[in-house]
Amino acid sequence: MNITANTRILGVMGYPIAHSLSPAMFNAAFSQLGMDWVYLAYAVKPEYLAPALAGIKSLGLSGVNVTIPFKEPVIEHLDELTPEAGLIGAVNCIAVRGERLIGHNTDGDGFLKSLIKDARYDPRGKRVLVLGAGGAARAVALTLGRYKCREITIANRTIDRAAALAKDVVRETSIPAKGMGLGESELRRAAAESELVVQTSPVGMHPAGKAPEWFDPAWLKPDVLVADIIYRPRPTELLRRSAALGLCTLDGLGMLVYQGALAFSWWTGEEAPVEVMRGEAIRQLGNNRF
Ligand code: NAP
Repeated sequence: MNITANTRILGVMGYPIAHSLSPAMFNAAFSQLGMDWVYLAYAVKPEYLAPALAGIKSLGLSGVNVTIPFKEPVIEHLDELTPEAGLIGAVNCIAVRGERLIGHNTDGDGFLKSLIKDARYDPRGKRVLVLGAGGAARAVALTLGRYKCREITIANRTIDRAAALAKDVVRETSIPAKGMGLGESELRRAAAESELVVQTSPVGMHPAGKAPEWFDPAWLKPDVLVADIIYRPRPTELLRRSAALGLCTLDGLGMLVYQGALAFSWWTGEEAPVEVMRGEAIRQLGNNRF
């Protein structure tokens, strides 16, 4: 890599940030396309968010991704949101356009693209069950609603949060939606009626890696697709059990890759080398760094 004064700079801001796969994915893409761009990781302590964002403009960066814990707090510091970021109420990438900072969100469309391209599944007209009601669930539910799935049930540990997200889905997309808790009988009924399940809670992530004890894939019909947006480990225990029951499954790596690929195109105007980005992410995950 030959960095000069003309090299365009992108990066990711989060805290912590050491485990991010984005620098490797983006730099592999730039290298593949021979582009004079570089992508760095910035560990920004939450109390430094405002000066770090001011630094995007003052230091001449072209844009940044933002990740945990900044996807929502960043909004008040931006000049404009794209319709996707406005719909979801969270930002995962920022571009500098002239003097303005524009916030965008590619998490929802990244998930949708992975669903369609990787799992060859069209969610239009389907009954969806979303497990969890946090930031990622918002991106998934609002995007599936906008894409005209048939109805969405959101099941979450904190019922009020599920109900609030369901209300937003109805208001923003006019798709019927309801929120519920994780009680067994109600969740079992919702599971038996669903055609697509999307697990968005962090339960199942490395290092604990256990399946959610409140959800059993044996409750599902045989033709259901079970998606888990976690990508460490691949597959999660929930997906392993679902596959053992003969259900179709989709892990979270494709969502990660496509949210990055969509941000790549938004910033650079170039088509992203998706398979190069995916290959690099898989290589990094296989390096046992986690
Ligand atoms: P978040 O905003 O903190 O939301 C977490 C959600 O999970 C909340 O609804 C929370 O319920 C629920 N939850 C947490 N611990 C739980 C437990 N022990 N039992 C039951 N429910 C629990 O997090 P997020 O940003 O949405 O991220 C969630 C996961 O998605 C993470 O694993 C993240 O790595 C992954 N993710 C993947 C991608 C990708 O590209 N593949 C993108 C974004 C996120 P309460 O409301 O009750 O607290």
